[in-house]
Amino acid sequence: MLHIRNYINGHYCDPLANEWIENVNPATGEVYSLVARSAEADVNAAVQAAREAFPAWSNMPAKGRSEILLEVSRRIRIHLDDLALAESTDQGKPLSLARSMDIPRAIDNMAFFATEILHTHTDAYQTDENTFNYTTRKPIGVVGCISPWNLPLYLFTWKIAPALAAGNTVVAKPSELTPMTAFMLGQICTDAGLPPGVLNIVHGLGAECGAAIVAHPEIKAISFTGGTVTGKAIAAVAAPMFKKLSLELGGKNPTLVYDDVDVPHVARMVARAAFTNQGEICLCGSRIFVQAGVYDAFRSALIEETTKFVVGDPLADDTRLGALVNEAHMLKVLGYVDLAREEGGRVILGGNRVYLEGRCAGGFFMQPTLIEGLNAACRVNQEEIFGPVATIMPFDTEDEVIAWANSTMYGLAASVWTTNVGRAHRTAHRLESGIVWVNTWLNRDLRTPFGGVKSSGVGREGGTEALRFFTEPKNICLQV
Ligand code: NDP
Repeated sequence: MLHIRNYINGHYCDPLANEWIENVNPATGEVYSLVARSAEADVNAAVQAAREAFPAWSNMPAKGRSEILLEVSRRIRIHLDDLALAESTDQGKPLSLARSMDIPRAIDNMAFFATEILHTHTDAYQTDENTFNYTTRKPIGVVGCISPWNLPLYLFTWKIAPALAAGNTVVAKPSELTPMTAFMLGQICTDAGLPPGVLNIVHGLGAECGAAIVAHPEIKAISFTGGTVTGKAIAAVAAPMFKKLSLELGGKNPTLVYDDVDVPHVARMVARAAFTNQGEICLCGSRIFVQAGVYDAFRSALIEETTKFVVGDPLADDTRLGALVNEAHMLKVLGYVDLAREEGGRVILGGNRVYLEGRCAGGFFMQPTLIEGLNAACRVNQEEIFGPVATIMPFDTEDEVIAWANSTMYGLAASVWTTNVGRAHRTAHRLESGIVWVNTWLNRDLRTPFGGVKSSGVGREGGTEALRFFTEPKNICLQV
């Protein structure tokens, strides 16, 4: 059985207590590898390696760090096929999606921050004739990066790339549900010439290994992506230690469709926004509000487009909806369909578990599901489901839909569909959301700030925001 081992100080090693967690392929339900169950002692070893590596890495000129990280990016590209297969096997997503989205994005993340550090500038202020202020930005030291299971290598590299590029050394933990591609990244980093100790990857449970990273006094900043409840627990530990915190948390994203759109086209895009990656993307639009004038036509078109999300073996070319990440999560998502019925909703498409035959007979699959007839305040429309379930609701006015869209505790992303540019701007400005897409979805420019408001998070990732998070500014005031 394959053992997914820690990567500390440039070497793979077993967890000190020699304890392991079973890792299941969600498409088959079978255990296919064992993951290191790391504890505080393993995290301590990783932090020690990171501390020792920090002086040389942080003092290396940006060009040197850039060349090494670009080489990591190139080597991810060389291994794209292997990494995509590993991602699909670990997470359940269609192989085609891992090949076209997840791994290419990991390549881009590494290359983007590797080159961004070559183009930074610093602020300077002339106070009076003799007095000048200028700002330096220095890496923080050892930082912790904790990432979730839905977009494993995509989000893992989204964190470690800016941290490393800025000159920090890193202790990182992927989700124990999807550790495989982070495990493979260790060898890629070694082959690319990343010095030992600069990146350390420890695997294990959130409550053990993750908590040890958060509580370690030598780790000066935590960049976390995951659920809102976990984010709260992390903040409770890290805030009294005055650690820098970046929290990218859950979402319950609204999709607003006005009555002036090209219905078939927008229905296709809205289905994509709801069901890509089995709806397991924090940015998926799971509450679909449609203006009354086009509601019936849009409803029909949306059902037609959603039906095209063929559930199947993630390795098959025509599969558009793979397995959910594990059995517990699938049951949770199916539980929300039951709740929707209790709350007065009508399931107009899907709603059931799917049992495949052959290789995937033991897998965790469900139908893409559309629910109608719920109000915006019910639990199904307020709580994050994080699966292939979306609700569709009619609305009349701009004011009404904006109030409903803003009615959850979340504020991560929204998409607005209209050909009226004034309405597009008005709506975008009034939505309580860190990201608003107009006539598009998941259209990412890595230079833009990424993150949510309200319970969707604190801080922003992406572009200069990420480099600012992973550095400390210092003002130097000079009188001549
Ligand atoms: P979790 O919050 O359960 O876990 C995220 C990571 O944190 C995992 O590595 C987990 O380890 C670890 N962890 C859990 N408990 C602790 C703890 N006490 N201390 C430190 N680390 C801990 O989220 P999921 O993995 O279930 O991911 C799904 C969630 O992530 C959804 O809510 C989704 O919206 C959100 N998300 C947000 C994004 C954003 O950018 N805003 C992007 C993608 C997802 P383990 O897996 O071992 O429990």
